[in-house]
Amino acid sequence: MTIQAYKKMPVLFAGHGSPMNAIEENEFVQVWRALGKSLPKPNAILCVSAHWETKGTFVTVMEKPLTIHDFGGFPQELYEVQYPAPGSPELAKETKALISKTEVRLDEKWGLDHGCWSVLKQMFHAANIPVIQMSLDYSRPAQYHYDLAKEISSLRKKGILIIGSGNLVHNLRLVDWGKMNETGFGFDWAIEANEKMKKLILSNDHQSLINYRDQGKAFDLAIPTPEHFLPLLYALALKEENEQIEFFNDKPVMGSLTMTSLKIG
Ligand code: ZN
Repeated sequence: MTIQAYKKMPVLFAGHGSPMNAIEENEFVQVWRALGKSLPKPNAILCVSAHWETKGTFVTVMEKPLTIHDFGGFPQELYEVQYPAPGSPELAKETKALISKTEVRLDEKWGLDHGCWSVLKQMFHAANIPVIQMSLDYSRPAQYHYDLAKEISSLRKKGILIIGSGNLVHNLRLVDWGKMNETGFGFDWAIEANEKMKKLILSNDHQSLINYRDQGKAFDLAIPTPEHFLPLLYALALKEENEQIEFFNDKPVMGSLTMTSLKIG
């Protein structure tokens, strides 16, 4: 990969939802595809997925990351999906060098999990842009993740598309499976949490989002565990003061998830 000088690349938070979005046709994936066409072509992609949690922070360094099918109970077709994008050892090493908060370790074993490839399969179907993943250190508090993300902001100027992939509202235990094919159904608390998160995002009140455990019952239900929420903090940390935010796919599904996503810059 040749890293070229670049005007600042936007940052994304992608609500990824069901892994079936990798192969299904629906309104969400249509937006992902359109976005893939409208964004400047990235030199490489760095994805922080809800589905890679580790003790310590890792970046994938392999030349050819495997497509990981990290889910159960889906149709065979989904297990056959490959996303054969190359890796970027150069970007992995550069990311490691930029981060001083912790000793980032280079990983040879992971690959691309569905938080990453289910979105990229639709957004950049040709799989010809190098992709690395950065893990979430489950032992660290939200503030750590936010501060760590700030250290990689210079990658944006090098044409690196940074994507946090999770879901703002994500409570699998409370999913209404009967509403699987009915987009737009959200429980009251899910809609309340989603709207409050959007308000805090738009008012640049990142600290209240970092302190998500102090935001009341709707947030507690929306974020029963932090892994799908933390990728949002990575994206927000990279926002510069005057940058615009655009929401997309701002809809609940199955009661207790929202697909709400944002583009910064
Ligand atoms: Zn997920």
